[in-house]
Amino acid sequence: MNPTVALETLGCKVNQYESSHLAEILTTANYHWVPFRAKADIYIVHSCAVTSRAAFQTRQLLRRARRNNPAALVLAIGCDAQLEPHRIARERLATHILGTAEKLDLLHWLNAAGSYSNPCLAVSDARLAATLKPLPTTRMHSGRARAFLKVQDGCDSFCSYCVVPYTRGKSRSLPQQDVRAQLERYTRHGYREVVFTGIHLGQWGKDLEPCQDLAGLLQFLAADALPPRIRLSSLEPGEWSDHLLRCVSSNPSICPHFHVPLQSGSRDVLQAMHRPYTPGQYSELICEMRRRFPRAALGADVMVGFPGETEHHFQETVELIEALPLTYLHVFPFSPRPGTPAADLANRITGSTLKQRAKVLHNLDTRKRIQFRQANIGQPVEVLVESEIEAGLWRGTTDNYLQVMFPMNRPLSPGALVTVRLRDQHKSGMVLGEPQVTP
Ligand code: SF4
Repeated sequence: MNPTVALETLGCKVNQYESSHLAEILTTANYHWVPFRAKADIYIVHSCAVTSRAAFQTRQLLRRARRNNPAALVLAIGCDAQLEPHRIARERLATHILGTAEKLDLLHWLNAAGSYSNPCLAVSDARLAATLKPLPTTRMHSGRARAFLKVQDGCDSFCSYCVVPYTRGKSRSLPQQDVRAQLERYTRHGYREVVFTGIHLGQWGKDLEPCQDLAGLLQFLAADALPPRIRLSSLEPGEWSDHLLRCVSSNPSICPHFHVPLQSGSRDVLQAMHRPYTPGQYSELICEMRRRFPRAALGADVMVGFPGETEHHFQETVELIEALPLTYLHVFPFSPRPGTPAADLANRITGSTLKQRAKVLHNLDTRKRIQFRQANIGQPVEVLVESEIEAGLWRGTTDNYLQVMFPMNRPLSPGALVTVRLRDQHKSGMVLGEPQVTP
């Protein structure tokens, strides 16, 4: 009988993308999938190390796997396995511990003997990671709306709170010919939207010979038959050059949805975070983006409770965000990560102060989202259909990242593009729409 396998993935979109690649490899090798709560022969926990909570969840999942079947192989793979392999081994949580490079060779390591008392431990120095290769996708899921394409991995920036450069290593880019080939494959298989992902997307091309940049990549691809939508994941403020802004505005395939991490509205805190911009520069950029892309969703990451963040610093953040035409926020409380400079800083913000600050920003996020949805009411928009919520009621996403539900009594396929007039906000956070034309 074929071995059964269960997989749980924590963390970012890049982890999700890599997990779907690993799932395809195992499916092709005739492994049989079962849910994580079931009894399996093999459990894989694709871990995250960005916050201490993610590391805690990693260990929880490993323990659960061991309880579900004490005789199973249990694999801890990815960022937390890379960061704390000896801790996982000491606590006897896994039979195999694979770092961020080794995890991609999963089948090979599955054949290596490992036990809880003597795990197969394969973790190399992430800083020495080799050139980025396209992850070969063995199967394309025709009939899906959206695909993710990892064009970059790693980061050279070393923000003082962030563990990613230590777990994923230096920045590596997928060469432009490989990006083109992957895009063509996705387009041939009917995907209508491709999301360019990376750990630090704006560093795409810096490691290539000759050195290139994201604007050049977009220009190179513009001559091809692109899928109707390309969405860019997060791009750091300093990476939005005038050239990139012009490339994006002249390419109708690129979705008007941009995510620009802010982290703090205080110059002092940004400096302590080793973030290379000032609140004023961030503000200028966002206002310029709003001028060039009037319909765009503009999102930001914000961190609360960085060590030493005073009430005054926090108010600077709130006031900056209030004043800017941002449309949503992702709010993260500071989480000390081993090996990062910020983990050793004094003046931690904890308890009710941290919770209260996070709450203020969550409320601000809710207000910004409602305002943005309201500003779009009455507009005709193109919705990329994703799924049927209930008989005759469909959901999908606009290019500017509104989640829309609309009635349609005829069958639709995921990936169809339907023009809808936005009518009302719904309490779920979606927008209700009326179809305008039959697809
Ligand atoms: S830019 Fe900073 S926050 Fe982003 S991955 Fe690199 S080090 Fe981490």
